[in-house]
Amino acid sequence: MEIKKNIKKPDLLKINSLGGVFNVNWALTNNCNYKCNYCHPDLRNGSIKAPPYDVAVDFVELILMRSNILGMTPNFEFGGGEVTLLRYFSKLLKHISENNGLVNIVSNASKRLSWWQENFKYLSGVSLSYHINDIKNESHFIEVSKVLESSQNTRFHVNIMMVPERFDDCLAFAKRLQQEVRCSIALQPLFEGFGHGGITKKYPYTPEQEQIMKDFRGRPELKKHPPSMAELEVNYADGTTENLSTFDLIANDQTNFVGWDCYAGIDSLVVTFSGDIYRSWCMQDGPIGSIYDENIELPTHPTKCRTKICQCGVDLSAKKVNTRLVSNKQQRIAVTQL
Ligand code: SF4
Ligand code: SF4
Repeated sequence: MEIKKNIKKPDLLKINSLGGVFNVNWALTNNCNYKCNYCHPDLRNGSIKAPPYDVAVDFVELILMRSNILGMTPNFEFGGGEVTLLRYFSKLLKHISENNGLVNIVSNASKRLSWWQENFKYLSGVSLSYHINDIKNESHFIEVSKVLESSQNTRFHVNIMMVPERFDDCLAFAKRLQQEVRCSIALQPLFEGFGHGGITKKYPYTPEQEQIMKDFRGRPELKKHPPSMAELEVNYADGTTENLSTFDLIANDQTNFVGWDCYAGIDSLVVTFSGDIYRSWCMQDGPIGSIYDENIELPTHPTKCRTKICQCGVDLSAKKVNTRLVSNKQQRIAVTQL
């Protein structure tokens, strides 16, 4: 993805996702059939029981209702662990899809091909991760990719996890995928501390490898998709507007919203492996409740941001308003109207 440099950087006034969706980012299961050594056991050892179907679907119902009231499209982003291992997962996807909700998943693609053939129609977005040390069958990964490529409603992306000691093999696979399948592809550098209290330093790569990872792209899909959550409308204090992505904000160091009104919790929610519900992954206000609660009260007012770095895509795409600038602007308008 091209990073748009924001050269003059006027003050930011407001940020809004173009997706128009009510987004629920849900860590549904910490069970995985792979054991990637760069992945913390807490993300894959199945130590937390996934919610039973009835609990999951009740929470889905609440979100469908809430989205309906707000006039937004419900969008569920399921991650793990490996979500396709959940026995009821297809049933849950079907239920959401039949109620006009969208579903995006992150997966290692290991589920049998027939599962993908039966379920791609419920998936509006899939991000597959390629893990070279655990993968049993590269051709299976390509076959699954072809199913997702052919699904016209599915935005399809692949992350190749670039294990430093297998860098050339990972790159060779990325090139094979690029030739055989149209999708966006990112060569992902690995970081230490992934899933264990925040990432720390990057694994060692040569400058040449760094450049290869930066430059590599897939072949763009030939499908038309509605805007994604990551696409933002940004309003500046000088009255200008521009479309940026959450990646642009990170690249431009525009990730400090302390003192702003943040609508995470109103237009988005996150759910942890244990079922706790938070406004956002920064978790600054503590849990709102749990999917296991009989009555769940969702927030109706924005929160004041107190967290210095808004780090992940989910949090960055929540609506944010720089209330200090808005009130200055309103005062100026009031004065000129006197
Ligand atoms: S596939 Fe993903 S969740 Fe599973 S062990 Fe690897 S990184 Fe962790
Ligand atoms: S860090 Fe948290 S509170 Fe602050 S803007 Fe991001 S999501 Fe909102």
